[in-house]
Amino acid sequence: MSKSFERVVIVGSGCAGLSAAIYAARAQLNPLVIQGEMLGGLLSQTTEVENFPGFPENVQGMDLMDRMRKQAEKFATRFENAKLVKVERTKENVNRLFLSNGKELQAQALIIATGSRHNFLGLEGEQKLLGKGISVCATCDGFFYRNEDVCVIGGGDSACEEALYLSRICQKVYLIHRRDRLRASKIMSERVCAHNRIEVMWNSVPQGFECDEHGFLKALNVFHKETQSVQKLMCSGIFLAIGWKPNTEVFKGFIDLEIDGYVKQGRIAVETSLPGVFAAGDCTDRKYRQACIAASMGIQAALEAEGWLSHQ
Ligand code: NAP
Repeated sequence: MSKSFERVVIVGSGCAGLSAAIYAARAQLNPLVIQGEMLGGLLSQTTEVENFPGFPENVQGMDLMDRMRKQAEKFATRFENAKLVKVERTKENVNRLFLSNGKELQAQALIIATGSRHNFLGLEGEQKLLGKGISVCATCDGFFYRNEDVCVIGGGDSACEEALYLSRICQKVYLIHRRDRLRASKIMSERVCAHNRIEVMWNSVPQGFECDEHGFLKALNVFHKETQSVQKLMCSGIFLAIGWKPNTEVFKGFIDLEIDGYVKQGRIAVETSLPGVFAAGDCTDRKYRQACIAASMGIQAALEAEGWLSHQ
């Protein structure tokens, strides 16, 4: 088994990880990025990105991540095409990392930027419709559905936020919730229920999708639990807001995690329960989940790691 000793290892190659890499590399910390299963993170799966500052003509998610990677490489960031499978802390406070390709590393400072993943309904055709009617981000994709009818699935704060955002762009928003009461905070629930462009469909469960001849979404079939009937809702967009899972399973027992798996933050947002271990982006931020915020957290984590290393 090959072993190497690293000053800074960054786990994850999305916006947070690559931004951390750019800063750590420019600080001459010679960072190594464990790129994980999805090089470029969730953004590399998005199509058009319209809200990343500095791109008035839009940018493809893949292209944006490619540019970030090139920028990190320009300053001599190294990449390991592997996944972290185990991590532990030695008595000497060094982080031991075990990778899926059999390599073992020791890292003085560690930046966790493993992101999160969306929950999906698990219905047939769902994955194929991503980018063709199904979205997981109203802020990113809502504009493509302006003046059209759309559905938001879920009953939490995210679903309410998505519905309110879409109500400013779309003609009509159906909020489809499986129970008779929203999980969201009172204020968000009240705003949604009072909105004249949002119709809440209670006790309603998505059952299947219908597409047009080009494979784009045209309708959602919804099962009403009370009437035991199915309704076909014509809509061109469906926004899923049924919760997220942070990709932090591998860090259980290594650092403190919140009950729902998010990295527990310290005195400042990028600190974790272990000195020298920092976390950035969607694995620790349950609120914003925006590329720019993940990037800024990555930068903050790199600066904190640099400061921490200089005191060692
Ligand atoms: P959440 O609170 O876990 O809500 C997920 C919603 O999706 C629930 O209503 C749930 O229904 C529904 N759901 C889950 N699985 C489903 C399925 N298979 N089919 C249909 N519906 C399903 O998630 P969230 O809304 O993303 O919020 C996560 C956390 O972030 C919360 O603490 C929230 O307060 C916070 N947050 C805060 C803000 C803000 O303050 N502005 C904004 C966004 C999120 P049930 O209710 O029946 O379980």
